[in-house]
Amino acid sequence: MAHSAWEHSVHCTTGADHMTTSEFRMYGRQVVDWIADYYNHIEERSVHARVRPNEIRDGLPEEIPQQGVSFESLMADIDCLVLPGITHWQHPRFFGYFPANASFPSILGELLSAGLGVQGMSWITSPVATDLERLMLDWLAQLLDLPQSFRSDEPGGGVIQDSASSAVLVALVAGLNRASGGTASRHGVGNSNYTVYASKEAHSSVEKAVQIAGVGGQNLRLVPTSSGTLAMRSDLLEAAIRSDIAAGMAPALVVGTVGTTSTTAVDPIREIGQICKETGVWLHVDAAYAGVAACCPEFRWLNEGVDLADSYCTNPHKWFLTNFDCDAFWVADRRDMINALSVMPEYLKNMATESGEVTDYRDWQIPLGRRFRALKLWFTLSWYGAQGLQAHIRHHVALAQEFASWVGSDNRFEVVSAHPLSLVCFRACGDDAVNERLYRRLNETGRIFVSHTIVDGRFVIRMAIGGTLTERRHVREAWELIKDCFGK
Ligand code: PLP
Repeated sequence: MAHSAWEHSVHCTTGADHMTTSEFRMYGRQVVDWIADYYNHIEERSVHARVRPNEIRDGLPEEIPQQGVSFESLMADIDCLVLPGITHWQHPRFFGYFPANASFPSILGELLSAGLGVQGMSWITSPVATDLERLMLDWLAQLLDLPQSFRSDEPGGGVIQDSASSAVLVALVAGLNRASGGTASRHGVGNSNYTVYASKEAHSSVEKAVQIAGVGGQNLRLVPTSSGTLAMRSDLLEAAIRSDIAAGMAPALVVGTVGTTSTTAVDPIREIGQICKETGVWLHVDAAYAGVAACCPEFRWLNEGVDLADSYCTNPHKWFLTNFDCDAFWVADRRDMINALSVMPEYLKNMATESGEVTDYRDWQIPLGRRFRALKLWFTLSWYGAQGLQAHIRHHVALAQEFASWVGSDNRFEVVSAHPLSLVCFRACGDDAVNERLYRRLNETGRIFVSHTIVDGRFVIRMAIGGTLTERRHVREAWELIKDCFGK
């Protein structure tokens, strides 16, 4: 039989002691069972890891074993050494940062992708990896009601990036390409007269992109926000761009944020977009966390003005049940991006590329190699369907609104910013020291995990509700704990 020949060949001809297909079958089942058990009992665990730096490492050999070890011993180490060092992002009482919610269909898609071991850098290297990805990004664009220009049969199109950080870097090099009339990728950023704009509340990945692309931190303009809404002041953006142009600078990129990391503030994208259109500056919209909520018609307002954007991203790996990593990134016109990122060494030339009929996603991202991520996105979107995904978003938004109402009706606490989605920022009455103490106590209990930020110069606790397994009782438990810890 074919499979026994394979078993024979891996043992006898390669030298290395490969795992056979029957061993893979057996251990694979054990691993799937292990994961299912992990989820069945996840709630009993302390949410975050309680280990000292290097504690895990001290339990492992300092050097690679000379002889391979058994799979059983590896799984034993998972239990004894790895699990204690895990902060359980999938725990139903994980309320830190933004969620990175996973789901079983996505995990299985990821497993298949690993099993197929495809490296989908060009269409020719595995056509379905590209074709399925194009379709998934079209599905998603339709589900989120994004502009028609983002569809793959238009001048634009979508691609999966590893992260929103990569997305903004790609947007920046595309913007530099446009601002330089196509010369930046060949001649560099020269006298450093390119400028980038984002609000003071924008994610730090903008600053990082500016550093990597050689624009230089001194050319990043952090535009003030309106007090109250924490949204970018478009009048101040316009003033900054016009004053830079007058001074001989070359504005290359504006980043507008839909759902800032600290508080989910939403920049006025239409006003920003109009300024960008008038001045010819590339507009990238970063909706890393919030964008997926637009699958629900009642949250379509999040897309207001996105038709003016040159690029847009949202992360299914945050709040859309798709395992990390999966950032969905679209451009309205792909030419500047491809001009900026395309290289064509001899060893990558092929007839499909030369025909001009195929998409080569290596020209849409920073690395050359790329994983078959579309599989997990396909499994997730198909398993849940539009209605399942809408229910998922609505569930968390409703929990967050209820949590905010509990906080708001207790005069020992205050909600500090608008909370239209599933993040609630709050603080206890008192100074920063009181709030920092409360925050530390909460996390020390191991019962919940929350993160913090600074809003208007004050320390604030962030309660981000978005776990796949999070139910009302978990949020209620968190609220009781918050009151308890404050009272101590
Ligand atoms: N942009 C925003 C608004 C975010 O909230 C985040 C992360 O929380 C990012 C970008 C960075 O996301 P990633 O980890 O995918 O790079």
